Amino acid sequence: MEIQMKTIAVAFTALVAISANAQQGIDSAYTAKIRELTTTDRLWKFNTDLVETLPASSTVPTPFKVLGYVPGTLGRLSYVADLNKYFRALAAASPRTKVFSLGMSDEGREMIVMAIADESTISNLENYRTQLARLADPRGLSAADKARLIKEAKPIYWLSGSIHSPETGSPEMLMELAYRLAVDESENIRAIRSNVITLITPVTEVDGRDRMVDADKEARALKLGPGGVPLIYWGKYTAHDNNRDGMVLSQKLTQNFMAGFLYWKPVVVHDLHESVPFLYTSTGTGPYNDEYDPIVVDEWHTLAYQEITELTRRGLPGIWTHGFYDGWAPNYTLLSVANLHNSIGRFYETYTSSGAGCRIVKLPAADTARRWDRPNPPVNGVRWCIRNNINFQESGALVALRYVADHRETFLSNYVAKAERMIDRGRLTAPYAFVIPRNQRHAAEAADMINLFRAHGTEISVATSDFTLQGRAPPSRSSDTTATKSTPAVTVHTGDWIVRLDQPYSASVRTLLAIQKFKADDPPPYDDTGWTLDALRHVETIKVSDSTVLTKPMQLLSGDASVKGAVTGNGNTLLVKHVGDWRSAALPWKVGKVSVADAAFTADGARYPAGTFIIENSSSARDAVSALGLNAASTGNAVTVGKHTVSVPRIALLHSWLETQNEGWVRYAFDKMGIPYTYISEQGLKRPGYLDRFDVVIYPNVSANPISLVNGRPMIGPPIPWKKSAETPNLDKWDETDDIRPGMGLDGLAALKSFVERGGLLITTGATSRLPVQMGFNSTVNEVTTTRLNARGGIFRVQPVSTASPILYGYESSSFPVYFSQSPLFTVTPRDTTGGAEGVDPAFDAARERMRARVVLKFHEKVDSLLVSGLLANGDEMNNKAAVVDAPVGKGHVVLFGIRPLWRWESQGSFALVLNAIANWNHLDF
Ligand SMILES: [Zn+2]
Repeated sequence: MEIQMKTIAVAFTALVAISANAQQGIDSAYTAKIRELTTTDRLWKFNTDLVETLPASSTVPTPFKVLGYVPGTLGRLSYVADLNKYFRALAAASPRTKVFSLGMSDEGREMIVMAIADESTISNLENYRTQLARLADPRGLSAADKARLIKEAKPIYWLSGSIHSPETGSPEMLMELAYRLAVDESENIRAIRSNVITLITPVTEVDGRDRMVDADKEARALKLGPGGVPLIYWGKYTAHDNNRDGMVLSQKLTQNFMAGFLYWKPVVVHDLHESVPFLYTSTGTGPYNDEYDPIVVDEWHTLAYQEITELTRRGLPGIWTHGFYDGWAPNYTLLSVANLHNSIGRFYETYTSSGAGCRIVKLPAADTARRWDRPNPPVNGVRWCIRNNINFQESGALVALRYVADHRETFLSNYVAKAERMIDRGRLTAPYAFVIPRNQRHAAEAADMINLFRAHGTEISVATSDFTLQGRAPPSRSSDTTATKSTPAVTVHTGDWIVRLDQPYSASVRTLLAIQKFKADDPPPYDDTGWTLDALRHVETIKVSDSTVLTKPMQLLSGDASVKGAVTGNGNTLLVKHVGDWRSAALPWKVGKVSVADAAFTADGARYPAGTFIIENSSSARDAVSALGLNAASTGNAVTVGKHTVSVPRIALLHSWLETQNEGWVRYAFDKMGIPYTYISEQGLKRPGYLDRFDVVIYPNVSANPISLVNGRPMIGPPIPWKKSAETPNLDKWDETDDIRPGMGLDGLAALKSFVERGGLLITTGATSRLPVQMGFNSTVNEVTTTRLNARGGIFRVQPVSTASPILYGYESSSFPVYFSQSPLFTVTPRDTTGGAEGVDPAFDAARERMRARVVLKFHEKVDSLLVSGLLANGDEMNNKAAVVDAPVGKGHVVLFGIRPLWRWESQGSFALVLNAIANWNHLDF
C-alpha cells in the first residue's frame, strides 16, 4: 500500500513537470537528490524555481551520470581531472557547448573554459568572437557598423570557479549550471542561450583544488569537521593572494586567464567566492578605483540589485550588496582585469560549507543585523549544507545571465562606449601618453614593465626619431588637465618606449603609473591603498601633457622589449657598477666568484661607488653582465681599492606550517631571479646540526605573533599530517610533515639564535622581525607601538642611515620609495651620550658599541615627505622610525626588515636590499 502511494506520488510529480513544459521532462532521480540535499526551514527557502528541478536529456549526460553523484552530495568534491572529464563529456554530447584549454598550471593541471550558447551561435563562435573584438577596439569603426554590431553581437559572460581553493562549492555548481544551460528548453534558459555566450571555467586554481579535495578527505577521516585540515599550500607559490595578482600577472593562473581574456574579450567576468553569508553580490563600499569607468560602477549596481530583487522575492535570506570590500585596489586577478579592460568584473561571496559538509549557522549579531544596505540579512539557527551554497550561486548566476540576455544591446552599447571613452580620454585630455626612456638606470626593469603592459593587452610604441615635447604632466592625477607649459621640456630619444593613452586598453597602465590618494576618512581599505609601479620598481616614467606626442614618429612594438647590457674595452678586469637593482645584486650568483669594492674609487678617469663589482674578464662574465642588462667597463690597469670577495652563500628559506602565503612570494622572487636556496620548515630547527649547512636563513613574514611561531598550533586532538597517502595523493608538495601543529619550539628558537651567534645571517621581513626583537637576540632593537598611525599597504619614502652598509650597495639617492604596511616600526637604543661616566674600560665601550644595532634605512624624517602613494594619516608616529635594522648577534647578524622588500612581485626596487645582505652576509661589519 505504502509502495503504491509512493509510485502514484512520483507519477503525479512527473506529470506536473511534463505539463509545465510540454517538450521536456525532468530528471526525477537527480531532482529528488537536489531536494534531499537542500536543507529546509519553517520560514526561509534555500532553493529557487530556477534550480530545484533538473531537466532531463536523453543524449547529454548529467554530472551524476558521469561522476556518480549530484553536486552538493555530502563528502563529495571532484578533482580537477574529474571536473574536466565532465565538461569534456558534456562537450562531446551537446552541440551547444565547446571546451577550450586555457593552459596548464605550474604542476601540469589543465585550466579549461567551456562556451555555451545555442547551436548556431556555437557553430559560428569565431564570428561572434570577432564581432566582440571589433566592439572592444572601436578605433575606425563607422557608426553604421557599430550599430549593426550592437544588434548582431552577443555578450560573453564568463563565470569562473574556485580561485580560492577552500571555497569549494563553485566547481560543483558550475558542472550543473553548464548542463542546465545546454539542455534546458524552458523559455528562461532559451533566452539566455540565444542572447548570451556563457563561458565557464570550473576551477581557476587547479593545483589548489586537488589539494583541497585531499584536505577535505583528511579532515573527515580525522573527524575534525569542515575545514579541519587547513590548506597549507594552494598553488605552487601563492595561497589566498592568488587573486592579488591582477596588476603584475606573475602567476600561471593569472597569465592563463589574462591570455584567455584577451582572446574572448568578455563583457562580464563573474568570479565565484565563498566567505560571508549567504550571498553577497559585489558593488563594494568605495572608494572605487579612479580608472574604473562610471558606467561599470553603474553596471555592478544594476546587476547586483537585479539579483537581490529576484532572489529575495523567491524567499532566500541574506542576499545583499554594498559592503564587504572597497573596490579600490585593482589587483584582483579576474575582476580587476575585467574592470580595467572595459568589461564588467564582479564577484559573489556565498556562504561556504568549508568542504562538502553542513553546519548550523551561528553568526555574530553584526552579521545578522538589518541595515540600510542589507534589509534582508542572513539568519541564525538554520542548517546550511554545501547544496544550499550551490543553489544560491546557481540561482544568482541564472538571474544575472537572464538580465544580460534581456538587455543584450544595452550591455554591448556600454561595452563599446567604455572603450570609446577610454580612447577619447587619451586623445583629448592629459596625460596623452607615458614615455619610458630606454636609456635609464634600471633599463632592464623598465623593459620588464613594458612587457607587463603588453601582457595587459596595451599597445606599446617605440620612438623612431628624437623629438621634444613641451612638458611633463605633474604627478598628481587631480591636476592632470591643468599642466602648464612651465614644466620642463621632455626630450624623447629614438628607441624610447611610448604608451599612447588614446587606445582602449590603457586603464591598466594609467592605474599602475598613477599616484594613489586614499583618504583617511574613506571606508577602511580592504587591501593595498597604493601600488604605483614605477615607484615600487624604481623605474623612470614620464607622464606627457603635450598632445602633440600623439603625432610624433613612432612605430608599434611587435615583440617583447629587452635590454642587453654593454661591455666596453678589453682589459683584463671588468668593473660593473652596482645600480641598486636586483640584477646588479644577483651578479655573484651569475658569475660565481666576484670581488666587491669596499669604497668608492676612480679607474680610467671614471668614478665607481662602493659596491662596484670587480671581476676577471672572461666571455662568460661578459655574457652574464650583458644578459642582466647591466653595463661594464673593462680596465687594463690595476684597481687600487679595498675589496672583499663574495662567494655565493648557502641559503635556507625558512617556512612556517602556520601559513605559506608570504614566503611563497619570496620563493617566487628567488626562483625568478635565479637565486638557489634550500626550502626548510621551522619544525626541523630543533634537529641537532640542522642549520650547519647554511650561511643565511631567510624567514619571510608569517601572519602570526612570535609566540605562535614558537608554539605552532594547539596540540589538541590527533596529529594532522601534510603528506601524500593513498587517500591524499596531492599533499606531497611543496613540503611535508607528519603533523602540521608543532612550531619551532624553544629548542628551535635556541638553534636559530645559536646559528646567528656562530656567524650566520638571519633575515626577517614584516612580522617575523618581531621574533628576534621580542626574544632579545639584540636588546638594542625595540618595536615602536603606534596608536594613531594609519599607513595601510602603500608606498613610503625611506632614507639611508648607515650609508656604508653593504646592504645599501647601489642605492645612491638620499631617499627612495618602498612598500610598507602599518607595522612593524623599530628604533635602536642610542648610545648614552649624556653621562660622561668615568671609569669605563674603552675596550668594554668599544665592544658594547660594536654590538649596538644599526639603522640601515629609516622612514623619511619629514612627515610631509613620507607618503609616495596610498594612505597615510598621523605620519608623526612613523617618520624617523627604523625601516631596516642590522643587529649584530654574537659573530653573526640579524637583518630585520620592517618593510616588505619582496612584496607580491611588485616591489622590485627593494629586492636588492635583500640580495645585498645575503651576498655580503659575512661582511656586514663594515
Ligand atoms: Zn575568495
